[in-house]
Amino acid sequence: QAVKDNLDAAVKAAGLEDKIHVSGVGCMRLCCQGPLVQVDQESNKESKLFEQVKPEDSVKVIDAIEGKETNLKQQDLHQPFFTRQLPIVLENSGKIDPERIQSYIAENGYQGLYQVLREMKPSEVVETITKSGLRGRGGAGYPTGLKWATVAKSKGDKKYVICNADEGDPGAFMDRSVLESDPHRLLEGMAIAAYAIGASQGYIYVRAEYPIAIKRLETAIRQAQRLGLLGSQIFDSPFDFKIEIRIGAGAYVCGEETALMASIEGKRGVPHPRPPYPAESGLWGYPTLINNVETFANIAPIIRKGADWFAGIGTEKSKGTKVFALAGKIRNTGLIEVPMGTTLEEIVQEMGGGVPDGGIAKAVQTGGPSGGCIPASAFATPVDYESLTALGSMMGSGGMIVMDQTTNMVDVARFFMEFCMDESCGKCIPCRVGTVQLHDLLTKISDGKAAQADLELLEELCDMVKHTSLCGLGQSAPNPVFSTLKYFRDEYLALIR
Ligand code: SF4
Repeated sequence: QAVKDNLDAAVKAAGLEDKIHVSGVGCMRLCCQGPLVQVDQESNKESKLFEQVKPEDSVKVIDAIEGKETNLKQQDLHQPFFTRQLPIVLENSGKIDPERIQSYIAENGYQGLYQVLREMKPSEVVETITKSGLRGRGGAGYPTGLKWATVAKSKGDKKYVICNADEGDPGAFMDRSVLESDPHRLLEGMAIAAYAIGASQGYIYVRAEYPIAIKRLETAIRQAQRLGLLGSQIFDSPFDFKIEIRIGAGAYVCGEETALMASIEGKRGVPHPRPPYPAESGLWGYPTLINNVETFANIAPIIRKGADWFAGIGTEKSKGTKVFALAGKIRNTGLIEVPMGTTLEEIVQEMGGGVPDGGIAKAVQTGGPSGGCIPASAFATPVDYESLTALGSMMGSGGMIVMDQTTNMVDVARFFMEFCMDESCGKCIPCRVGTVQLHDLLTKISDGKAAQADLELLEELCDMVKHTSLCGLGQSAPNPVFSTLKYFRDEYLALIR
């Protein structure tokens, strides 16, 4: 903000307001080099990206615009980090001003909603989403069209649409970026979903740790209501749809859909057994559609460009693109959006620039605490739902943490187990007690105090926690242990007495 404020002031002081337009934008993806300033020259259609810009650099930025020499550090926009990306979800990120609805409208914003209200029956919208092959981006990869069709068919006086924006995986910041950079995209996707399933009320469940996202969502909702794009008789049609924000207090388990709904209802956010599924009996007992931020962010482009366009991107069973948050021991930390089927090698080595300081990538952790560690020997694997699951990990919401040769994999497993232990809601015994016992065993191994029998106990207990816990948190808590045991067993054995 300080960089932008100074730039605004410098442009004004130089009397260049007619020639230079300064616009605040959301995430420009290459987080490790921020603050970033991109200069787009209208005269020659050239763009320059300056990195690590300081507030006192504002005059230098103006010099650069005017073609003068400066010592500002410039990023190469032709490097693989940018050129290998295929932005669909992030197409407006770093480009539009997220606090101005006009900025979104200028990029075809709300055209998808207009199109469905004017030209399509609700069933045709569901059909289009089904045909596109879009799968839920929150983790499990459930077919979005099938979910919408189930809620559309469910009987109820009322129906609800919920956006799960309770992103909580360590190292994950994909949804936050969409919310902060392009909030109208989410509102439009939710409104299209509401029309398709017959809902008139939506909720966005967002964590309190995302204050900028919340502020921009509030602004976006106000702006959309003022222009008649949310509220009653949208685009002069009989369709009414309102959206409210619900702020979560940051419990990881509230990302689980039944816990999330309990939290919206004002109850303690703990999961309950399914069935009944939310599609039949969700919020306050009414049919409810829950998708995450990235899933909704894909909807408007699918409507605008068609199901076939979307289905033509990606692999046979995983269509479209996926946003990943690159973190850990990697040169280019930041956000990337790539077609499904891109290999881990391309992501880590080419786009991510590999491990800094001559280090060697040893593994990549995908899927957060529910996922697993994939060894470098499997980096040729294309990233899609099935391939990652076959490797013992999962797509998850898109966190990708790179580890180098100095990383101790037993410690990694212990870190994620500690996370699950802390975040366990305590409702069921296998998870509440099991994660503590597993954490103790991992600590014993890590401290070099364990015997072979402890390793066997670890595996037996992991199996039990996986199969008997009530919700996904407990069921998947052992995954990092399973995957590190599968690929890095020698590191465990080296610590056993
Ligand atoms: Fe709570 Fe864990 Fe049981 Fe889920 S598995 S209900 S988080 S105790």
